[in-house]
Amino acid sequence: MIRETTKILIVDDNPNNRLAIRTILKGVDAELHEAGNGFDALTMAIENDYALILLDVQMPEMDGYEVCEQLRADARTADTPVIFLTAAYKENNDKMRGYTVGATDYLTKPLDDIILKAKVQVFLRLYWQYQQLQEHVAALKLAALVFEAQQGIVITDANNIIIRVNKNFTTVTGYSSEEAIGKNPSFLKSGRHDTDFYRGLWQSIETTGTWQGEIWNRRKNGEIYPEWLIITQVKNNGVTANYIGTMTDISKYKTAEEQIRKLAFYDPLTALPNRRLLMDRLQHSVDMHLRDGKLMAILMLDLDNFKLVNDSLGHLAGDELLQQVATRLLERLRNIDMIARLGGDEFIVLLENINCADDAAFVANKIIAEISKPFCLLLEKKEVHISVSIGVSLYGQHGITPQALMDHADAALYKAKENGRNCFTYFSEELTIAAVKRIELASRLRLLIERKELLVYYQAQVDIATDKIIGAEALIRWQQPIEGFTSPGQFIRFAEETGFINIIGSWILRETCRQGKQWLDAGLSPVVLAVNVSPHQFCHNDIVGQVAEVLTDTGFPAHCLELELTESSLMNYQDATQSILDNLRQLGVQLAIDDFGTGYSSLSYLKRFPVTTLKIDKSFIDDIPQKQEDMAISATIIAMGHILGFKVLAEGVETPEQLAFLQEKGCDSYQGYIKSPPLPAQEFEQLLRKQR
Ligand code: C2E
Ligand code: MG
Ligand code: MG
Repeated sequence: MIRETTKILIVDDNPNNRLAIRTILKGVDAELHEAGNGFDALTMAIENDYALILLDVQMPEMDGYEVCEQLRADARTADTPVIFLTAAYKENNDKMRGYTVGATDYLTKPLDDIILKAKVQVFLRLYWQYQQLQEHVAALKLAALVFEAQQGIVITDANNIIIRVNKNFTTVTGYSSEEAIGKNPSFLKSGRHDTDFYRGLWQSIETTGTWQGEIWNRRKNGEIYPEWLIITQVKNNGVTANYIGTMTDISKYKTAEEQIRKLAFYDPLTALPNRRLLMDRLQHSVDMHLRDGKLMAILMLDLDNFKLVNDSLGHLAGDELLQQVATRLLERLRNIDMIARLGGDEFIVLLENINCADDAAFVANKIIAEISKPFCLLLEKKEVHISVSIGVSLYGQHGITPQALMDHADAALYKAKENGRNCFTYFSEELTIAAVKRIELASRLRLLIERKELLVYYQAQVDIATDKIIGAEALIRWQQPIEGFTSPGQFIRFAEETGFINIIGSWILRETCRQGKQWLDAGLSPVVLAVNVSPHQFCHNDIVGQVAEVLTDTGFPAHCLELELTESSLMNYQDATQSILDNLRQLGVQLAIDDFGTGYSSLSYLKRFPVTTLKIDKSFIDDIPQKQEDMAISATIIAMGHILGFKVLAEGVETPEQLAFLQEKGCDSYQGYIKSPPLPAQEFEQLLRKQR
């Protein structure tokens, strides 16, 4: 605290007296002023804040009494201590009058040096203490003002129990001081922060004495709100005495912040993310995809006849249409990562984590279908029809930077417009052609079983030693194959990619068992029917449960059913494979390895699995007897297979030479055109009957 200079006024008409007093008071911590008459004394007293006035009683013109009276009459000097200096012979009389007019004390002349100095010092001390008190009062008033300021304030004791809160605390939280006092401030917790958050907060207070940050609390009405909280630890002689929490409700700023963010990153018309947010997201996705090598697609949409709507119905109608398009896209498209509006009638759909290029085509097709449904404009009470063109670019194949992906989607969109609109185009032509075909195929696949377009053909399996039919392989046929997908090989691969294989696979299993049981019931000699199982079915479905159910439902004996598995399905899922195969064998079904020789061909490895039959792939039979090498391989598979306890069947036998070779090498059975191509059920049945 800076103390202003303390001032004392000496009032006496005799300059010698003033000098004498000045001499006595030498060394006192105050500035000494002098006045030679009452008038000067009054003017000086108003201009200066005197700690003390030493006032001579007897002065010409205006005496001490009058001076004192006037001093007391003025509020600025009413409290200034005044010591009267009076002559000894008049002491009693003067003293009485002096006190009446407001003197604080008196001294008699001639002045005693020691008494004067001591008295002056007492008054000075009193003055200083008074000054200090004034300052404290001012500080307290200030503190009270601060306490009731803008922020909510909570004061707790050392155990963090609330002992005081201010009015604003009640305004912010809704709790009165009576409700708050005695509680731990944690009663305001919103539940939004975990224990780690509060642990960090207390750690900061204990180590640095303070914490500040954003925190979410709950008001009495249940509402959760953000506040900026400053907690300060107050120590007394090194021991924590209190914690003071100052809270500022920042929900308003938060809302403003949110609005600013919205303006910066969202399109105000449709509330969809704008180009800026899209590019941010794209960059992020690209970074992620660089790491894990997943597939991602960008679909750039442009409404085909939007300008027409705008021109004929006006901009308001155009705006409403854009809003409806945005809503429809959001509502109808699931599994979409982001829809953004670039401006005008251009939108972007971002697809992350797609499995194949076709996924993007499926979504594009869905969008085209959705947008072509009529829109009903409420404003104009009009139904409008529009369409959309879409350009697709794929991360990796068509670019690896956000800008390249956007540019290529744009180029593809341009092509889609050129191709007559209301369609989608990939950045590369081949992809577009393939995708269109596949989409058609997929939509047909969906109806395949419903429309009874699937058939099972049976190809005889013949015992080489006896030339008797001992079994048949069930092979799928699609009655109305679409151009380009005539062979089951291609069609099966597509079904596997799109997941339809599970439906198709379980259908053919059931149909084959049903047919087999019908033949048995008709008294035909029992044959083993082999059904192909795709790797997809093998691992993604409960194949064991499915087979068991079909056998029970159809009544077909388990030992008459053989499942053909590929080497890859056994090798790919080694852990699960063993138990699946064991369980299938437990059911009593036979297990064959199809296309043997084309995959890993590890006989010793296969030995671990309970497989019954090896089917030598047709490619090793084709060039017998021309290719020495193929003959060697076939002979080895037969010999090794037998050593390891497998039966061996040769696939695709077409010539007597091939058959003779296989017979010579001791092959157990065969399948091929030399005996019979795959036949419809009825024809195969006739073949069986003939044999009987
Ligand atoms: P696969 O299991 O190796 O079937 C043998 C294929 O060889 C059949 O072709 C059959 O028609 C053909 N074939 C048999 N003997 C001869 C012959 O002497 N000469 C010639 N050139 N070909 C012969 P298909 O029916 O076209 O089936 C092709 C592949 O499609 C099958 O190979 C199998 O992998 C798959 N497939 C067929 N039906 C199904 C099914 O129901 N489910 C599953 N998952 N795959 C199936
Ligand atoms: Mg097969
Ligand atoms: Mg085969």
